[in-house]
Amino acid sequence: MLVDCRQLESGTVVRADVCVIGAGFAGVSLALALKDSGLRVALLESGGLETDENASGLLDGTFDGPHRNKSYLQTSRSRVFGGTSDIWTGTCRPLDEIDYEARDWVPDSGWPFGPEELIPYYQRAAPLLKIRTFKTYRREGALVGYNRLAGPDFTRFVPKALFRSHPVARFGVLYRDDLESSERVTVYLHANVLELLAYPDGAGIEEAVVSNFAGRELRFKAQEFVVAAGALDCARLLLASNQVQKAGLANDFDVLGRYYMDHTRLPRTAQLVPTQEKRRPWEGTGADAVRYYSYYVFSPNREAQRSLKMLNCGVRLSELDREEIAAKAGGLSQEVGGLARGLDQTVLSGSRPARRSKPIYSAKLYNEHVPLHHSRVRLGSERDPLGQQRLVVEWRSNEQMDESVGRTLELLAMEFGRLARGRMHLSVADPLYTAPCYLGAHPMGTTRMHPSPKKGVVDADCKAHGVNNLFVASSSVFPTGGFVNPTYTIVALALRLADFLKRKHGLA
Ligand SMILES: Cc1cc2nc3c(=O)[nH]c(=O)nc-3n(C[C@H](O)[C@H](O)[C@H](O)COP(=O)(O)OP(=O)(O)OC[C@H]3O[C@@H](n4cnc5c(N)ncnc54)[C@H](O)[C@@H]3O)c2cc1C
Repeated sequence: MLVDCRQLESGTVVRADVCVIGAGFAGVSLALALKDSGLRVALLESGGLETDENASGLLDGTFDGPHRNKSYLQTSRSRVFGGTSDIWTGTCRPLDEIDYEARDWVPDSGWPFGPEELIPYYQRAAPLLKIRTFKTYRREGALVGYNRLAGPDFTRFVPKALFRSHPVARFGVLYRDDLESSERVTVYLHANVLELLAYPDGAGIEEAVVSNFAGRELRFKAQEFVVAAGALDCARLLLASNQVQKAGLANDFDVLGRYYMDHTRLPRTAQLVPTQEKRRPWEGTGADAVRYYSYYVFSPNREAQRSLKMLNCGVRLSELDREEIAAKAGGLSQEVGGLARGLDQTVLSGSRPARRSKPIYSAKLYNEHVPLHHSRVRLGSERDPLGQQRLVVEWRSNEQMDESVGRTLELLAMEFGRLARGRMHLSVADPLYTAPCYLGAHPMGTTRMHPSPKKGVVDADCKAHGVNNLFVASSSVFPTGGFVNPTYTIVALALRLADFLKRKHGLA
């Protein structure tokens, strides 16, 4: 059933078994997984069926950090039924094995479980997200083009494929009928959760306080509460729920809102001119490549990451078109100098038309973010129209992140050079590694998962430390986020949480 909360009377009290806050990827996946369990689910969504100015206005806040996308807070998420699935681009890949490990060169790294824990949930998440099954993915058959470019002796990097959701899964459209026709799930639209009210001892949540632009105030009482509001708003809501616990929920040790991460993207940082390759690296795979795979990357392997203390990273090579080559040709010929012996002369002369026989690839890097205690979100002094404190995001990076980008590119250039498979031009003249970068609209880490409340906000079951009936379903629980897009893992974790809740209630 679908209920518009603007039509309910102020003071209405709604009761459910599980109250899920946020109808994006995580919230909708959780509700779908619970809809036949016997539990009554209330799915509370701030937005309506279409985006509207009122709901979108709640996204405003302050973003502070050396980044280039100034409107990050407005453009990195969507307040509407279906959440940010409304605007996402559909690229998916599970985390790598190394992402789960406690690496001695990455402070505060390590998940409380290994990759095998999520494999069954990745399998179940694939059809929901409209991507090929995990089994197919493991063959990585579409990588033939990248393998050809690299060759069998390419030892420090591995090619990796990123899946495509096809057609791109918009959860608000795809799953509306399933939820609307469910007898056990009710979707409440225009239900802005302002606060989770804890019992006086702080050990559990009694109710969610809800408001909207029609001025209706409602209360939702449930046995379990799951915050699935996206990584920025999960932290915001837990921080704002401070009537009983003054620092916010599950925040006895000042971890809530901290360790905020996003994937940094450095565009056009290097160009590769392959020695022989005449085809785009992904062309070897035919139509499937376009339909099922978004793109491919070279990623430094475990040994390279460990020995050079590098972070996980994906280097995507995209072929430059003629105009881009013409624009770059002058710079290339001046800067590459002797290094460029063997390059195609038509590429190096800026004045001649591009009568090239070899492609040039531009490298784009997708980088892991180090979890940093001082990279954080907090409540600011400004208030939104519903009276809630707006977010202040203090995004911070560190030298290790900059150095890792440089090392990755240098190592890749050395690999191509050593094997005489191409020459890479690194833009060392630019303040490349310290320049402001783009963030990936992949907020993570603000309610991180750790067995100890001193280091995390939720435990390995995504349950808030010290609060018996409060859970988080979001990339906000990621202790580290690798370099891949987060949504596949978010949905896998939401399905895992649904299983946990069923077990808790003796239903599985
Ligand atoms: C342009 C763009 C492209 C992207 N492309 C990709 C991609 O290719 N691959 C990928 O993996 N990821 C991508 N992402 C990131 C992806 O969209 C997020 O990882 C994903 O949406 C997070 O899912 P979620 O359910 O946690 O949060 P969301 O999808 O953001 O859903 C959260 C929901 O909670 C609601 N909400 C928030 N606060 C409250 C409240 N107080 N009360 C009630 N409801 C509330 C919101 O309205 C929203 O509906 C992209 C993001 C953007 C912006």
